[in-house]
Amino acid sequence: MSEPLSVIVTGSTSGIGMGVAHCFAKSGAKVALNGRRMNDAAKAALDEFQAAYGADNVVFAGADISLPEQVAEMVATTTQAFGRVDVLVQNAGIQHTETVVDFPAEKWDQIINVNLSSVFHGAQAVLPAMLAQGFGRIINVASVHGLVASKEKAAYVAAKHGVIGLTKVMALETAETNVTCNCICPGWVLTPLVEKQIHARAEENGTTYEIEKLKLVAEKQPSLEFATPEQIGALAVFLSTEPAAQITGQSIAVDGGWTAQ
Ligand code: NAD
Repeated sequence: MSEPLSVIVTGSTSGIGMGVAHCFAKSGAKVALNGRRMNDAAKAALDEFQAAYGADNVVFAGADISLPEQVAEMVATTTQAFGRVDVLVQNAGIQHTETVVDFPAEKWDQIINVNLSSVFHGAQAVLPAMLAQGFGRIINVASVHGLVASKEKAAYVAAKHGVIGLTKVMALETAETNVTCNCICPGWVLTPLVEKQIHARAEENGTTYEIEKLKLVAEKQPSLEFATPEQIGALAVFLSTEPAAQITGQSIAVDGGWTAQ
């Protein structure tokens, strides 16, 4: 039997990241959970994962992923715990919605740092060892907003388009190795990041959370359904297998038809 994969999933104490981490752990991988710091949510996630998958198979590697030295520490913590890093899922991300005219410059900088620059720092931290060990998978959770735009999401759309471009460069630079670099581009997934947007719309439009939830999906996603963290996780697990070895530099949308329009 082959060795279990060692996987880091950034931003995995909630939402898509937590779903992705569950999928890897269920597939038998050893998983490093990540959030900015060890807080109540991180502790709850670590307890839940260790109870479900075994204390030796899950660690918490805290890091603010916008800071290169903390990203390096996250990789070092995981390497110390599991001996290596085979898969890095760069999932953590933030959002802020406002028109370009009103978009606060500090929010722009924060989103570019967390959603885009972190992907560069993460790649720098794992690639040398992945190349040396002859296996690696970098999976970046971009977004449909890496492929198309929506109004009031200037920094997010710019960052996610950047992630897709950066992933293509990384794929070309690693093409002759057993390392692949891909993006997963979710459409709407019902997570805290999106719930916040639904609440804001309900307040702005004087409607309810339930009404705005339906409207949100109907506007963009022809399937009329949210994608799930588990569907994103299943794709990430597949991208880490040998049959996916020739898939590199790709952006795979999981969006109920959003970007087919
Ligand atoms: P979420 O808010 O539930 O999760 C994001 C996670 O990232 C949180 O756990 C948060 O603590 C963590 N995080 C934020 N900043 C961090 C930092 N500086 N360092 C470390 N961790 C940090 O949101 P989500 O919807 O699960 O989003 C996950 C990813 O999926 C994001 O990159 C987001 O852009 C992308 N995405 C989400 C959707 C959606 O509909 N939910 C759609 C497309 C793409």
